[in-house]
Amino acid sequence: MEFKKYQLYPRVINDLKQRSTISIVFFLTTACLVLVTDNYNLRHPEFSNPFLISLSGICLLRLLHMTLAQRTQPKFERFNNLIFILGVAVTAMIWGIGFAKFMIQDGELSATLLMTMCTIGLCAGGAVAFIPDLRLSISFSFFMLVPTIGTMVFYHKNMPLVISLLIFFVYLCFITHRGNREYWYALENEYLLKEKSKEFENMSRIDGLTGLYNRRYFDDALSFEWSRSLRQQTSISIIIFDIDDFKQINDQYGHLAGDQYLKATATIIKNIFKRETDINARYGGDEFIALIANKPLENVLMMAEKVRSMIAALHLEYEGQPLQATISAGAAICVPDKRDKPQSLILKADKALYQSKASGRNKVIGDT
Ligand code: GH3
Ligand code: MG
Repeated sequence: MEFKKYQLYPRVINDLKQRSTISIVFFLTTACLVLVTDNYNLRHPEFSNPFLISLSGICLLRLLHMTLAQRTQPKFERFNNLIFILGVAVTAMIWGIGFAKFMIQDGELSATLLMTMCTIGLCAGGAVAFIPDLRLSISFSFFMLVPTIGTMVFYHKNMPLVISLLIFFVYLCFITHRGNREYWYALENEYLLKEKSKEFENMSRIDGLTGLYNRRYFDDALSFEWSRSLRQQTSISIIIFDIDDFKQINDQYGHLAGDQYLKATATIIKNIFKRETDINARYGGDEFIALIANKPLENVLMMAEKVRSMIAALHLEYEGQPLQATISAGAAICVPDKRDKPQSLILKADKALYQSKASGRNKVIGDT
């Protein structure tokens, strides 16, 4: 089964959005904590206020965008995704610049220490949260750490810390790269498993030879239609078709010839009962069944007659040998009653089919 990465992008973006919502709250509360501790904001209002205002601004915009995006999906999906990624990058950038400013100031040891610890925590948390998208995850760590690393190198400040931050950044890239591979591996497996189970579900209701629904599916569909018709007090009709003397085709020309004949019969039936509400199926070996909802018996008999005449006129060839047969049909109609079961309608159609066979075959008989 072929797997295309882009088929999973909506799911990945959704994962990223869910993971990033909580980070908005953490960014804001952590910033408040760092700035308020030891009255740092009162000593440095020229930095604290713009930092907090820009951080609150971007967080607010992101929250606003999230609410708007929910309403404008799926029309502006790509645009919304781009804004979401930009929002994450700008938040990291604002924090990264604030962190850099903290690290080059003198005489604020405890505030600097607190800011470093919080940045490391937020950075690790964000990088792991954005693992589904490797570029986003690495850009996030980059914007959080690299402005500080660059500024500290420029001002020759605390080089051991610069090296530690660099090692931490490389470590995060390594971890996220690995995590991203594992995330996609798990996602791919989940996707393939779902596709396979859909395929199995489909196989369990389709007849392999003719491509029509099988008996199991038909019985379920009949129960469903029966309940609906019972509620709405509308009619439901059934026609059972059975190829006449089909054994002879098998005996004379072989099973493969018989298979070809069954396929041709199925195609005719499929083309006649093609309304959205019509259900047709292969009911047994050479037996086919159709369900028609809310149509008078005359119309149903006319449809069955059409199948009968098309089969009678069907001239197939198998390895140069002509294959020809006829088909008999029995039809029945009813408006479901609480005391009855769907099987009662099948029995009536079967009885009509029996009469059709008994009275010389190649006939359509309606239950009276
Ligand atoms: P009647 O007119 O009374 O229906 O006679 P018939 O010979 O058609 O008898 P019946 O309907 O009982 O026979 C069905 C035959 O269909 C028997 C079986 O060998 C054959 N058959 C069932 N399934 C398949 C299949 O998948 N492929 C082929 N080629 N033959 C099948
Ligand atoms: Mg038959």
